[in-house]
Amino acid sequence: MNAADKKIFGLIGFPVKHSLSPLMHNAAFKALKIDAEYRLFPLQDAEVDDFLKALADENIRGLNVTVPYKQKVIPFLNRVSAEAGLIGAVNTIKVSADGLEGFNTDGEGFLRHLRQDLAFDPQGSAVALLGAGGAARAVSVYLCKAGARRVFIYDTDKPKMDELVKSLSRNFKDVEIKAAASLEDLHLGDAGLLVNATPLGMKEGDPLPIDKGLLKGRLLAYDLIYNPPESRLLKAAKEAGCRISNGLGMLLYQGAASFEIWTGRKAPLEVMREALQQGVEKI
Ligand code: NAP
Repeated sequence: MNAADKKIFGLIGFPVKHSLSPLMHNAAFKALKIDAEYRLFPLQDAEVDDFLKALADENIRGLNVTVPYKQKVIPFLNRVSAEAGLIGAVNTIKVSADGLEGFNTDGEGFLRHLRQDLAFDPQGSAVALLGAGGAARAVSVYLCKAGARRVFIYDTDKPKMDELVKSLSRNFKDVEIKAAASLEDLHLGDAGLLVNATPLGMKEGDPLPIDKGLLKGRLLAYDLIYNPPESRLLKAAKEAGCRISNGLGMLLYQGAASFEIWTGRKAPLEVMREALQQGVEKI
């Protein structure tokens, strides 16, 4: 096989060096005997434009996009999926003869993890969501699509929170959606799911994003953070008797969905899960 035939995939963002995506995707390519390689592309803001224009020259067939470019890439794309349009962010780009097509697999990854591994169906549930950034937008759209009864959102950035609530309310008229004025206003006492979509908990010494006293035993507490595997929030929730999950499963399923978009093949889930598990143990 000619080295020039190798299809290139990868991740653009900044920083990207701690990403586990190369491990997961390269293991999947190997398992399915696909001549392809997944690379990391750390880009400065001023480099994004030229990079996206030169994809075909480099035989780049697909990309993941992470912070801070999930919104910035949209004007460079020929088409954007309905879901990515609703979320307002793209984390997956497919490169084909027809041009560049944008998708968002974060919300789908979250939902598949909830349903398939955690046996939690959001249909009819009341959700408290911390954060209104890119990840929270993806998660909230998919919770609404999956029939959540209520989604209350709290973010310290009030304009961002209000904008998300406005956009969700416009698109999901049957769901009760509210910008919470305080953490108490999230009504955790009668919620079934708490999601942390803020970065609070990634760094040692970060405070809890929610008061411990608000955590009640019937909750599933889901932290999108997977490093550390058990954030302070998850520890506190476990002590309060809640079921807990970190975001490694979301990372797996969003990666599997991206892989299927790029290759048209069913993702080898267990191979990808194993690669991620090994990667996370080495961090
Ligand atoms: P982001 O765009 O920066 O959004 C985070 C939001 O949380 C911001 O609006 C931020 O407000 C807000 N916030 C910060 N501290 C808060 C607090 N104490 N209470 C309430 N809101 C607070 O980040 P993102 O891309 O959405 O990512 C969020 C987290 O999800 C990160 O930890 C990321 O690693 C994780 N993630 C995981 C996966 C996965 O596959 N598991 C996928 C995507 C993201 P300010 O802007 O004012 O700080």
